[in-house]
Amino acid sequence: MNRAFLPFARPDIGEEEIAAVADAMRSGWLTTGPNASAFEKEFAEFLGGGRFAVAVNSATAGLHLAYEAIGVGPGDQVLVPTWTFTSTAEAVRYLGGDPVLVDVDPRTLCIDLADAARRVTERTVAVAPVHYAGLAVPDAALTAFAAAHGLKVVEDAAHAFPTLNEGTLVGAGRHAATVFSFYATKTMTTGEGGMIVTADEALAARMRTMRLHGINRDVFDRYSSSKPSWHYDVVAPGYKYNLTDTAAAMGRVQLRRAPEMMARRAAIADRFDAAFADLPVQRPPRAAEGSSHAWHIYNVRLTEDAPVGRDRFIELMAEAGVGTSVHFIPLHLHPYWRDTYRLAPDDFPVASAEFERSVSLPIFSAMSDADVEHVVGAVRGILG
Ligand SMILES: *Cc1c(COP(=O)(O)O)cnc(C)c1O
Repeated sequence: MNRAFLPFARPDIGEEEIAAVADAMRSGWLTTGPNASAFEKEFAEFLGGGRFAVAVNSATAGLHLAYEAIGVGPGDQVLVPTWTFTSTAEAVRYLGGDPVLVDVDPRTLCIDLADAARRVTERTVAVAPVHYAGLAVPDAALTAFAAAHGLKVVEDAAHAFPTLNEGTLVGAGRHAATVFSFYATKTMTTGEGGMIVTADEALAARMRTMRLHGINRDVFDRYSSSKPSWHYDVVAPGYKYNLTDTAAAMGRVQLRRAPEMMARRAAIADRFDAAFADLPVQRPPRAAEGSSHAWHIYNVRLTEDAPVGRDRFIELMAEAGVGTSVHFIPLHLHPYWRDTYRLAPDDFPVASAEFERSVSLPIFSAMSDADVEHVVGAVRGILG
C-alpha cells in the first residue's frame, strides 16, 4: 500500500471560508471591524447568550488579558496543571506572577484538584484549569474548589469548543473568564486567533481596552460613531491583541460549521475506540452523562505489554505514513520552568509517568474514511 503521508493535523477549510475571506478583503476593511464584531456576537449566541465575547489574535493573548483583568500582578500565584501548553503558565509570568504547577488526574490528565489544594498558599489568587483534549474538568468540583480557597477561575478552553460540562457549554458557566483558541490545528480555526468569554461586563470592558493599546474606543467605533473620529483616550499601557476582520470572516464560517466538524471528530473517536479495544493501549476517557468531549486530541497510552515503547511507536507510525504528536511534554520537564522554579519529575509523579507512554493520533474533521482506516491499520500493524 502506497498512501500519501497523513499529517497529524490539517485545518478543515472549504470554499465557504475562502469566499468569506475574499469578501472581507474586497470590503476595504481588513483590521478589526464589522466581521470581528459579528463574530463576537455570534460566538456569544452559540454559547446561549448573556455573555460578552472578546475576539483576540491568539488564546495566549486571551489568557494574558484575562489574568490582567482579574488582577494578577507581581508575586501572585496562579495554579496551572503541568500537563498543558506553555501559554497557560507563561501569561502569568507576563504580569510578574508565578504559575504554581499542579499534577494531573491519571484518568483524564486534567488538573488534580486534591493536589492543587495542597499547593495553595496565601499568595494564590486564581486557578487556570485546562479542559485537556476537549474533556472538561467537572464543573461542580471545580467551582467548589475555587470557592473553598477564594480563587478566581480562568478556564483554558483551547481544546474545549464545543464541550458540554455537566449540562452547560464550556464558556457559558459562571467562571471569571473562559479562553478559546482558533490556532490552525484547533477544533475551529482563524489561522491565528482566540476568543475570551465572560459574563462580567466590567471585566469584558477592561479586556477590550487592554486588547488595543489601552485605548477606550476601538478603531471601528471611532470611524462609525458620531464623535470626532480623530479623538481617543489612552487610559492604560495596553497591548496589541485585536483580531483582524479577514480572520474573523473565516471564524464566522467555522463557527457555523462547528457542530458538523464536531460530529465528524466524534465518529472518528468511536471508530478508534472500537478498533483499538483489543490492543495494549489505554484509550482516552469518555465524558460522563451530561457532559461531552470535543475530541480535539485523541491521546492513547501504551501499556506495559505493548511490544514497543512510545518513541519507537512514533517512528514506526511515521514509517507507516502517519504523523503523530505528544500532548503534552509536561511543563516541569521544560528547562525554563524546571530551572526557574527548581522542579523535579518526582514533584509530579502522575504527569511524569504518563508522559512516557502518551501519544496523540490524528483526529481532525477533514480526515476521510480512508485516512481513518490508514491510522487504524498503522496502529494495529505495530501493536496488534
Ligand atoms: C493551543 C493552546 C494554547 C494557545 O493557543 P494560541 O491560540 O496558539 O495562543 C493554550 N493552551 C492550550 C492548552 C493549547 O493547546
